[in-house]
Amino acid sequence: AAKAAGRDRLVLYEPTLQHEAQDRVALLADLRLALDAGQLEMHYQPQIDLARGRVLGFEALMRWRHPTRGLVPPAVFIPLAEHSGLIVAMGAWALQTACRDAARWPGTLRVAVNVSALQFERSPMEQHVLEALQHSGLAADRLEIELTESALLQDSQHAIDLLARLRTVGVHIALDDFGTGFSSLAYLRRLPLDQLKIDRAFIADLDHPRAGPTARAIVSAVHDLARALGLRTVAEGIETEAQQQVLTELGCDVGQGFLYAHALTREATQAFVELAHRDGLAAARGAHLDSVHP
Ligand code: C2E
Ligand code: MG
Ligand code: MG
Ligand code: MG
Repeated sequence: AAKAAGRDRLVLYEPTLQHEAQDRVALLADLRLALDAGQLEMHYQPQIDLARGRVLGFEALMRWRHPTRGLVPPAVFIPLAEHSGLIVAMGAWALQTACRDAARWPGTLRVAVNVSALQFERSPMEQHVLEALQHSGLAADRLEIELTESALLQDSQHAIDLLARLRTVGVHIALDDFGTGFSSLAYLRRLPLDQLKIDRAFIADLDHPRAGPTARAIVSAVHDLARALGLRTVAEGIETEAQQQVLTELGCDVGQGFLYAHALTREATQAFVELAHRDGLAAARGAHLDSVHP
């Protein structure tokens, strides 16, 4: 191929890229074993009712504890899992684990599980969800599925029907990273959804001296749109009191971010919910439970 291209700067022979490619192959080989080896974990980040300052539930975020590399971030291993098809088994495991863990939390706390496009196309996703609920005993309305616009655009009618059936059972549906995709408003209206998660890029800009006013206008418009569609809004990636303040003023329903907590291990989550349940959110936030920062 290098010869055909007639140039020695052909990317395939770039030493660093070649090294990266080899590294990805090695990582993928390890990932194939990770699930059975018990190296995957679910961690949980709290979602807060902004008006009342109470914990509503948690987003489940997958972690890979690699034996020699340490904690590999999902931004690295989820794309590998998607390209290889491993995401189907990993996704089923994520649903089972998240539902089982959430069934131990007090009250009506919810768990939100991320789902990839491939899980819609290639796997009996609906069956995996129903089995996870059955095995854990978790009430369906305590489970939320988070998906991105790109997950839906592949075969939208299939996805819409599947989501509609899950919603009939009581499962909630959230559209993740909203504002970064390309779906039209007409399309958005057809989706059976319960909430929009405003992408954290917009939240990060809220207290920026120059980008702030624009970000505020965008978040406000998304919030109005969500209201018009009968959806709740979730702001992800809240890091500062100032951002929280703007979001509360705009009437955003739910907040999530490092301001409240990083994703916590299962054990730390259990401690967090028990503290929050007994002494309130401030006590749980102040407890500095051992979180793992990827
Ligand atoms: P996401 O679903 O949009 O998850 C939110 C990401 O933002 C998480 O990154 C979370 O740790 C991070 N985050 C939360 N609060 C803050 C904040 O205040 N500031 C900043 N800078 N970041 C914050 P994480 O855990 O690294 O996950 C990255 C992505 O990987 C997720 O984005 C999701 O798309 C994917 N992912 C994670 N777990 C799963 C899973 O079980 N299944 C699938 N299919 N995808 C997953
Ligand atoms: Mg998410
Ligand atoms: Mg998100
Ligand atoms: Mg994201």
